[in-house]
Amino acid sequence: MQNNAAPMPPGKGPTGRFGLRIAAWYAVVFVITSLAVVALTYWLLAASLEERDRQIVISTLKEYSERYAEGGLPALANAVEIEQRSGLHERLLVRVVRGASETFMLSAPSTLDDFDVSRLQGLDLEQLRSDSGTSLLEVASAKFPDGTLLQVGKSTENREELLARFRAVLAIVSLLIVAIGLAGGAIVTRSTLQPIRRLISAVRNISRTGKLEDRVPVRPQRDAIDELSMLFNEMLDRITTLMRGREQALDNVAHDLRTPMTRLRGVAERALQSDDPRAHREALVTGLEESERILAMLTSLMDISEAETGAMRLELSQVDVAAIVSDVIELYADVAEDKRVGLSSDVEPGLVVRADAQRLRQVLANLVDNAVKYTPPEGRVTVTGRRGDGVVRIDVTDTGAGIAPHDLPHIWDRLYRGDQSRTERGLGLGLSMVRAIVTAHGGTADVSSEPGKGSTFTIRLK
Ligand code: ADP
Repeated sequence: MQNNAAPMPPGKGPTGRFGLRIAAWYAVVFVITSLAVVALTYWLLAASLEERDRQIVISTLKEYSERYAEGGLPALANAVEIEQRSGLHERLLVRVVRGASETFMLSAPSTLDDFDVSRLQGLDLEQLRSDSGTSLLEVASAKFPDGTLLQVGKSTENREELLARFRAVLAIVSLLIVAIGLAGGAIVTRSTLQPIRRLISAVRNISRTGKLEDRVPVRPQRDAIDELSMLFNEMLDRITTLMRGREQALDNVAHDLRTPMTRLRGVAERALQSDDPRAHREALVTGLEESERILAMLTSLMDISEAETGAMRLELSQVDVAAIVSDVIELYADVAEDKRVGLSSDVEPGLVVRADAQRLRQVLANLVDNAVKYTPPEGRVTVTGRRGDGVVRIDVTDTGAGIAPHDLPHIWDRLYRGDQSRTERGLGLGLSMVRAIVTAHGGTADVSSEPGKGSTFTIRLK
């Protein structure tokens, strides 16, 4: 077997490129999805922290407004002091303003030194940027009927710090994700492609060594690759059977032709040794007959070998059995009449079978030919066709000589001829052909016979 494929190192070649593509796709999809999840997490966290700060500012403003409404400035100052002393929360900006810019009270943690609070306008909710511009002061205000403005504010500094730390963590996590994505891609690709690589190397080995009996290993888990391996093995089985069949067929044909060829040579040699022109003429006639026999035999032998090895191409279709039987009966009607043998058929109407019409005709012709040949005058030959037990059964029954028990096991063999048939024309290939064709159709061919009473040849087709 010719092998043009040079051995390919693992990881290179089409599988390698394919692997690289899978790995790249896996890594890209994994990394993009994971980074999107990380970004979403960050965005949700930032939004929820902002909302929490806003709630703190608003609820504190509400509480202080109530204090101020109840007891004026002293009550408010008292509440602010209690709150600050408790140290439970981060210190907030509390500012009370009356008139344009007169500040009555200012409680501001030192962390807010960076903000110019006098710039606060007194709108519902506002943001003031620090002088350094690094953080914001988020302020909520409430205005009282006496014109007093109460403002509560919270710096975003803490929040920013927390988010900055979170960003650092996420950066590390993202790097890890990229690394995992790349490594995962490589691992996934490796494990996916490993069985394919094994298959390729096994197939390459077989094609390099030409050892058709070698098989690709199939693992017990049976995935798609194993299915492919099994199909490949089945194909090899079939190729091997066909090749062996062909070799055997050639051997058989060569062997079977030896006898008639030797006979032909004998006739020619004898004619050459004689000076009689009549003997020469006779030899030529015999030679011609013999070569015709050889040709017929060669065709039959090749057909039988092809059918036996599965190389025969069958053109399957739904065949009308009655039509084929009546064709064959018609073909042998004259021969049967000359011999005074009754020839009739009885086929179930509408009986169809999936078969190669030409080959089925050949099978029935062989059986009817034998039946008429081996049935003495005044005998009967009947062809019947029935469906039963899921098969189509065709019987060719005769009231002829029957077959001797010692002949029975051999009549299907190539070139075998029964004792009493030596006087009849024939090659001893008819029944071999019948069985080979029927078997190629997936059917069976059998015989039952009683010497002196007759025989029934039965073929069953699915
Ligand atoms: P042949 O060319 O001798 O007929 P076949 O292969 O058709 O070769 O048959 C093989 C042998 O089987 C025959 O020689 C004959 O002895 C026997 N045989 C086949 N059909 C019948 C039959 N209908 N009745 C009796 N003997 C038969």
